[in-house]
Amino acid sequence: MKAVISASRDNLLGLDKSDLRELAALCEEPQFRGAQLFRNIYARRQRDFAECTELPARFRHLLSSRYRVDYPAIKARIASRDGAVRYLLSLHDGENVETVFMPDEGRLTLCVSSQVGCAVNCHFCFTALLGVKRNLEAGEILGQVMAVTAAQRIPPATPFNVVFMGMGEPLLNLAPVMKAVRILADRDGMAIPLRRITISTAGIVPKIREMARETVRPKLAISLNASTEEQRTALMPLNRKYPLSELLQACREFPLGSRERLTFEYVLLDGINDTDSDAQRVAALLGGIRSKVNLIPYNAGPDLPYRPSPLRRVLAFQKILQDHHIPAFIRISRGQDIMAACGQLRLAGMESETAPVDVAPSVSPG
Ligand code: SAH
Repeated sequence: MKAVISASRDNLLGLDKSDLRELAALCEEPQFRGAQLFRNIYARRQRDFAECTELPARFRHLLSSRYRVDYPAIKARIASRDGAVRYLLSLHDGENVETVFMPDEGRLTLCVSSQVGCAVNCHFCFTALLGVKRNLEAGEILGQVMAVTAAQRIPPATPFNVVFMGMGEPLLNLAPVMKAVRILADRDGMAIPLRRITISTAGIVPKIREMARETVRPKLAISLNASTEEQRTALMPLNRKYPLSELLQACREFPLGSRERLTFEYVLLDGINDTDSDAQRVAALLGGIRSKVNLIPYNAGPDLPYRPSPLRRVLAFQKILQDHHIPAFIRISRGQDIMAACGQLRLAGMESETAPVDVAPSVSPG
């Protein structure tokens, strides 16, 4: 417990209910005060202990003198024409992560990062160019949600979705990610239903199996991105370690709720993985798995050679999947720039369309 607190420099964000009960005990307060503090920090989103008026004055003073509730600072904010807003947030050690806010016909989604950079070397991905710098702590994951909901003035109790599709591979930072998920989902925390929280993975098979055993389990999305072992290895070298065959076996064994489906993401790369035969093979691979497919037209950028598939290809791919009774959606309506912003940090097109707010290229991961 002490270690948790000192690691985050006395910032209480990221501590769960039992951590805060311990903290209360440490402060010679009854344990239920810890649960009250939990509600104040996460449900009411209080940052100033003086305003936690249900706590006794002595405890409030002690908290104010020793601890803080710190959100990451907003370093840059770029609004797209279609309402999506991309945030560059700076962490206590000066590292930066991206978080994207996406409003869509009344449905709000936050796309959060799980690591600074990423160790999985997907050849088409801009985050991969950074390598991995470090894992995020649970508090830094929650901090993204807190900072962006505050900046967007989203009142507590407004429903929204959280997707782990920003920087990083969430299953390579599973314990802090799951700790954050439990606090997001806790009725006394942010009270976000688990069906509104999605973890997206490049396919870390043993961690998928570990996630399958969790009692508090969010939805799972798999970045498929290819229709054969060879093609997937060429695009995602981690396929050598965790081949498609083993990945799909873990998917088949993944427990699903009664109406739940696994989501498979498929980034369509012009002339690489977007033929009719690819679509037919994807349909065959997913046979027997209760699934849906999100087709993502690639977001191109200056340093990588890949191009997005033309729309008629995307539509043909979708039709083949649908003909095989696999629900397939094209993630294009929200504006290609923002949708893929989560996996792509270098968005020249987006920056030229918008009014950037002091984005410093030297620190922006893109
Ligand atoms: N590491 C996790 C989550 C982050 S990537 C994962 O791999 O799922 C989130 C999604 O963005 C993945 O499906 C990835 O394939 C996709 N993606 C990455 N770069 C992209 C780009 N430039 N354009 C479109 N989608 C991209």
